[in-house]
Amino acid sequence: MMNISNRPLIDATAIQSRVKELAAQLDGDYQGRALTVVVVLNGAMFFAADITRQMRADILLESIRVRSYTGTAPAPELTLFDAGNDAIAGRHILVLEDIVDSGRTAVAILNHFRARQAASISLCTLLDKPARRIETVEPVYIGFTIDDHFVVGYGMDYNGRYRQLPHIYVLES
Ligand code: 5GP
Repeated sequence: MMNISNRPLIDATAIQSRVKELAAQLDGDYQGRALTVVVVLNGAMFFAADITRQMRADILLESIRVRSYTGTAPAPELTLFDAGNDAIAGRHILVLEDIVDSGRTAVAILNHFRARQAASISLCTLLDKPARRIETVEPVYIGFTIDDHFVVGYGMDYNGRYRQLPHIYVLES
């Protein structure tokens, strides 16, 4: 039986103020550049909705979906669904993720865009869980670094549940 922690690990107020800071930092860094923001669905949907609405930069907003098939394969097989190349080639790409854990998803996404002639590619993640990293990946922008907990809320799920919670909680057994 899994439950969520009584108290949030990160509450909505803390999330929103950090999101605001990151948005200001991104606006500064991408000033005058052709920027495409790519949202990794579903986990980053609320993060992306909040951060992009705090940004003043002129952006193209795209999304991709990643399916991880664990099965018997040693590494997850990633299937990416995304939009047309017009939003990628020659443009600066900022990938928005909910959480970087092993780093496999992030590496697959970054490689995917590298192969499509983006001008630059950076990763912005709401949460970073460096304790479980397998791949070498350093997100340029990090909302919060957390310990090795499984977290839910603010877009992140457990078997499809808890995404709509405004705070981030630890899942406990
Ligand atoms: P990675 O490929 O870095 O191991 O995992 C990235 C993906 O795994 C995240 O985008 C997220 O969907 C899922 N994930 C990793 N850690 C957590 C967690 O603590 N909570 C939830 N809900 N999803 C997680």
